[in-house]
Amino acid sequence: MHKLLEDKHGRKASYMRVSVTDRCNLQCTYCAGEGKEFIPHPDILRYEEILEFMGMAVDMGVEKVRFTGGEPFVRKGFADFMIAAAEQFPDVDLCVTTNATLIKDYVAPLAAAGIRRVNISLDTMNPERFEEVTKRDLFHEVRANIDRCLEAGMKVKVNAVAMRGVNDNELPAFVDFARNNPVDMRFIEFMPVGLETGWADKAVWKADDILAEAGKLASLKAVENGDKQHGPARMFEIEGGQGRIGLISPYTNHFCATCNRLRLTSDGNLRTCLFSDKVYRLRPVLRHPQLGLKQVEKIIRSASRHKPIGHDLLERMPAGQGVCRTRMASIGG
Ligand code: SAM
Repeated sequence: MHKLLEDKHGRKASYMRVSVTDRCNLQCTYCAGEGKEFIPHPDILRYEEILEFMGMAVDMGVEKVRFTGGEPFVRKGFADFMIAAAEQFPDVDLCVTTNATLIKDYVAPLAAAGIRRVNISLDTMNPERFEEVTKRDLFHEVRANIDRCLEAGMKVKVNAVAMRGVNDNELPAFVDFARNNPVDMRFIEFMPVGLETGWADKAVWKADDILAEAGKLASLKAVENGDKQHGPARMFEIEGGQGRIGLISPYTNHFCATCNRLRLTSDGNLRTCLFSDKVYRLRPVLRHPQLGLKQVEKIIRSASRHKPIGHDLLERMPAGQGVCRTRMASIGG
């Protein structure tokens, strides 16, 4: 292995989120925003290019790769690609974040290929509200696919963006869901990423408020956070329940000091911080006949060294605007 990726604040990049497409079959306003122009196909990294890139990242100390989008399963051949990645990188912790609307036929092959974990985004337990939020009537499909993943033996984390005025009256249903199913039900504070997303401070259903309210609905026991699997989530067991509740608070209680993430967008841009619009354009370098991977590696090393403390950017955010302009759907969350 080459020298590891370390920034000026001593953080080591060991986790890479790789977006395989900016297209999604759902249209959640908090994520897609107003930007509806998609990246043209020739500018999207080919699967072979992503595998090449992953090989280099692994050499530089990346231990975990999460595929995201847009919606990864919207891209043709995604499940086969993920299976190929699992075969090529057996020691990498490989996972996917999905809205689970299209995963049905792929659950069994992915499980057979050793994919043990899946993160599923679901912001509501109410079918009508699901349609309001996503503009698609697919709640029951998602719900059934969560069960399919569980039946296939996968560990399922369900992620809801916590939004005041949208899903903050559903905590009893979320807690019941976690009580009755062996899942981690996690709430992620609504983040000010992208323009025209409806974000405002008062639109954030804050983690501490969720915890206080959840404590009235169930007896919760904090899980020791020594387990790397939790990432930045604070986890709680529910007494007498099968699943757990988790809180992720990038807005009210940031975890920038321990951020170990790098992001590769589907058009081959490297982002070192979710809260920054700064990108490093790797695709032209990767495709250049003389430059290629060697030069890409140099850029990644230099970019990683200058990874910002994102929360400083959040604190300087102009009132009422997103901290960065790019919509979450094209970054990958
Ligand atoms: N389509 C996939 C999915 O639904 O999980 C992957 C892409 S999506 C951009 C990744 C995650 O980002 C989802 O869990 C989504 O809810 C979350 N997300 C999008 N916009 C967000 C925002 N403004 N604040 C917090 N989380 C957000």
